[in-house]
Amino acid sequence: MKCSMFQVSMYESYLSEYAERTPVVSGHAEKDIACSLVIPVFNEAGNLDELIDRCLKVCRQGGQDFEIILVDDGSSDGSTEMIVRAGREHPEIVAVLLNRNYGQHAAVFAGLAQSRGEIVITLDADLQNPPEEIPKLLLAMEDNVDVVGTIRSNRQDTLFRRLSSNLVNAMVRRTTGVMMHDYGCMLRAYRRPIVEAMLQCREHSTFIPILANSFARTTAEIPVEHASRQQGESKYSLFKLVSLQFDLLTSMSTFPLRLLSLLGTIIAASGIAFGIFLLTMRFVMGAAWAAQGVFTLFSILFVFIGAQFIGLGLLGEYIGRIYHDVRARPRYFIQKVISSSKKQ
Ligand code: UDP
Ligand code: MG
Repeated sequence: MKCSMFQVSMYESYLSEYAERTPVVSGHAEKDIACSLVIPVFNEAGNLDELIDRCLKVCRQGGQDFEIILVDDGSSDGSTEMIVRAGREHPEIVAVLLNRNYGQHAAVFAGLAQSRGEIVITLDADLQNPPEEIPKLLLAMEDNVDVVGTIRSNRQDTLFRRLSSNLVNAMVRRTTGVMMHDYGCMLRAYRRPIVEAMLQCREHSTFIPILANSFARTTAEIPVEHASRQQGESKYSLFKLVSLQFDLLTSMSTFPLRLLSLLGTIIAASGIAFGIFLLTMRFVMGAAWAAQGVFTLFSILFVFIGAQFIGLGLLGEYIGRIYHDVRARPRYFIQKVISSSKKQ
């Protein structure tokens, strides 16, 4: 990857800025901002100017304190320079530059870590999520919900994307039991405690909307507009999409491993039952019926295959537990502790 002197110096200045901000953020001493927008940017030079204008306009109309965190995910088309310039021009804009491309969800996480807002809203940089919808999310948040999700009412994506997304959403609903309709839309709002809880999760492959829902007590969902991409192209190739679906599936539950267990037990039980049937028939009907011992061999084989599947299922259960522990997600997240007597 080519890296100009300008980029290097920007990165250095970013590092020193980061050093300044980090104590504030990690200590969370300063939480006086009402709303933070977190926007991951990867090669979106064609969209950035309009995005910044529209976001600033909408947020200023709200009349509350806000910050717009633009996370540059290792862009190489000039987006980095544009973000830095915007950060210098507007005090409300925070430029976060990652040193290379880490992927959309990692970039959003980097932004969440820098955010200070009581409410944090994520959205895409390609203007597919119109910034003008932000007030609707803030309004929905007023009912004291932890997470506000959105449904893209007139989704402007290819048929393939829409169909696969419907399938995934239905699967997530069944597995998690959380009745949200559109997990793919990143225009979402989170309350500060949910953001803090997510930041404590150290796992690498993660899917933010699902992770947030796992900590939310109350969620709401509102319909929003969706625009087609005007500039640039989607950053998700088929391979990246599939890998994202795996992130989603595994961040959600160890249900697939359980499925292995369940399937294993069914196959094992039918294998063993069939083996017993063959063996019994061999004694009742004689050796000729059992093809002179061939069936008996089959019956023994089925019993062994069954035992293997049971073993695999058991292994799956253990791996599931190891996976849970390795991710080391916080077991719970306390929102508030209230006590009338102060313990020393
Ligand atoms: N994005 C990113 N890093 C990546 C890929 C995407 O920060 O590696 C950003 C991208 O700039 C955009 C958002 O994530 O703001 C969604 O990407 P895209 O529009 O390509 O996804 P799609 O709408 O096709 O699902
Ligand atoms: Mg998009």
